[in-house]
Amino acid sequence: MAQAQVVANEPIDEGKVAEAKRIILDMQKRLPAYTAKGSGPFVAAIYDSKGNLIVEAANSVVEGQCSHNHSEMNAIRLAEEKLGTYNLGPHRLRMYVTAEPCMMCLGGIMWSGIEAVYYGVSSERVEAITGFDEGYKPDWLEAFRKRGITVYGNIASEEGEKALMQYMAEGRIVYKPERRTEKR
Ligand SMILES: [Zn+2]
Repeated sequence: MAQAQVVANEPIDEGKVAEAKRIILDMQKRLPAYTAKGSGPFVAAIYDSKGNLIVEAANSVVEGQCSHNHSEMNAIRLAEEKLGTYNLGPHRLRMYVTAEPCMMCLGGIMWSGIEAVYYGVSSERVEAITGFDEGYKPDWLEAFRKRGITVYGNIASEEGEKALMQYMAEGRIVYKPERRTEKR
């Protein structure tokens, strides 16, 4: 395992990468405290353009008995409640998340008006470590670029993968919907 190369849908800005790495590493450090109380192994946070934290949330699918409760969706809901709006666009917000958003969360991010997304571990690696199915989302970095949403990925990926492996090693719940389709 090694650090995966950072990917982005704009020319890479090392300042943004360094800030995202600091924030995502910090979230990874808090992950065990969340999972110890029953949260899933993903954390998302929303910051304003000055670098102030607006909200942070972990995955609460199992705790909340709701399949929508991914960390990104929880963070968006909390930010909208806090700011009293369904449109985060005018607030110029960024999302940082410990793993690549799934297809539901990509939709949630698009509808929220968040203008930048920084993620840690790629879906490919999340799926390899956990067995999750992150969904079908071809070329989403380009689709987001066309819509003016900046994306950086594979930030602090090595540390993120270690955190997921730790979660699996602890034998914690891996939520997966039951399916009757043929194997992929
Ligand atoms: Zn998701």
